[in-house]
Amino acid sequence: MSAQIGVTGLAVMGANLARNLARNGFTVALHNRSVARTDELLAKHGDEGDFIRTETLQELVDSLEKPRRVLIMVKAGAPVDSVVDQLVPLLEPGDIVIDAGNSHYTDTRRREAALAEHDLHFVGIGVSGGEEGALNGPSIMPGGSKESYQALGPLLEKISAHVDGKPCCAWIGPDGAGHFVKMVHNGIEYADMQVIGEAFDLLRSAAGLEPAEQAEIFGEWNKGTLSSFLIEITAEVLGHVDAKTGKPFVDVVVDAAGQKGTGRWTVISALELGSPTSGIAESVFARALSSQAAQRKEAQKTLIGNEADIAVGEGFVEDVRQALFASKLVSYAQGLDMLTAAAKEYGWDLKLDEIASLWRGGCIIRAELLKDITAAYAGDSKPANLLFAPAFTEAIAEAVPAWRRVVATAVQLGIPVPVFSASLAYYDGLRRDRLPAALTQGLRDLFGAHTYQRVDAEGTFHTLWGEDKSEIEAVDSH
Ligand code: NDP
Repeated sequence: MSAQIGVTGLAVMGANLARNLARNGFTVALHNRSVARTDELLAKHGDEGDFIRTETLQELVDSLEKPRRVLIMVKAGAPVDSVVDQLVPLLEPGDIVIDAGNSHYTDTRRREAALAEHDLHFVGIGVSGGEEGALNGPSIMPGGSKESYQALGPLLEKISAHVDGKPCCAWIGPDGAGHFVKMVHNGIEYADMQVIGEAFDLLRSAAGLEPAEQAEIFGEWNKGTLSSFLIEITAEVLGHVDAKTGKPFVDVVVDAAGQKGTGRWTVISALELGSPTSGIAESVFARALSSQAAQRKEAQKTLIGNEADIAVGEGFVEDVRQALFASKLVSYAQGLDMLTAAAKEYGWDLKLDEIASLWRGGCIIRAELLKDITAAYAGDSKPANLLFAPAFTEAIAEAVPAWRRVVATAVQLGIPVPVFSASLAYYDGLRRDRLPAALTQGLRDLFGAHTYQRVDAEGTFHTLWGEDKSEIEAVDSH
């Protein structure tokens, strides 16, 4: 018997993906650097399907049908290179090496190019949904060559989550496209969680609603346009009481948010692409600020708040819901805009409707909203920005008055709402007829002769600031 796919790296994610494949009827060859992990998996779950036990990469390769499909699920970074280097001499042209870990898309681009030299396919795939998703159906974002997807797609589509009968898996685009899209997914996830946090803080600090009361509110919100996995689990976490102290669980957790780095990667890439991804960026910075324990302690003693003494009215909870919805929409709009910028930069033909569709199930940002986002990009005329799709233009217009009230109230009360306010600033920035960027250009021209363009003439100009302030046509911009 030969296996249809081999998995190397059997920590939690690799083990669960291997089990998912076997449960779906595929014969899976198993390998791990330390054989104990392979044996542990077989002892606990060996009866879930057809597994082939291997001890070396050579044995793994020998156990596979051709073209071989080898899925690597080891620690991201150098370990992936190490495993790839060991595999390459064992493989034959046409074989497929899959990296399903959280690799940086530039590493995937590099590895894809290197393996193409050996006529091997290298496929970077983004997998979202954590351990549970890997076992029961994740959202899968495969990159690599289209040809490799012919051989790999059917397996991945079978083990992915399904929504309305459609797999949450589709070929994203060549080389690093899959890992890029997964990275942006994680960036949106950061922003999604931060806007939920801002809503929680406002409801508690401005409206005095305790976590248990808020659990009810988030539970209600989960029935409407905000319906999503993250809102659902927010209700669960807020409703949880600490067994040791009897206090709300959220009050006994240290308020310093950790991060593994994919949000940071998203923001770095956004900066490199010149993509205004301010909501995601603020959510990454908010985590960073939360972790500056010593400075926060000092600031509580020394920095003056001078907050206004205002009470919030009856409609505040609904206002916060609308502000949360609008800010969330902006995060998606910014994330998708970043995908458009990357598609242009790297020559990827990213299908935003398919991407939104495969985020509908299995992954952390799964949400009702994604159904409408899919629809927004499904037609022939693609909106240049999600907010320009008629359904969203209308939805955000309805939320704007509440959104402004909430941000203004938060500012007056001294409650930080970095993503609510950055998203609103982005919205207003987009709408604005004249931006102060004209002044920026003037300043740049004065101190650095960086030149500018005029609203009333073609060409590039420079003012002789240090002379008679006459204007000349510039040949070259700096
Ligand atoms: P880890 O990231 O903890 O990696 C452990 C695995 O990597 C073990 O199988 C280990 O082998 C192997 N490994 C480490 N270094 C080497 C090496 N130099 N050569 C060969 N094998 C090596 O495992 P996870 O299952 O948590 O994650 C795997 C990947 O999936 C990562 O890229 C992660 O970012 C990504 N991911 C994780 C999610 C999660 O929820 N955990 C969610 C989505 C993606 P050994 O047993 O011999 O030490």
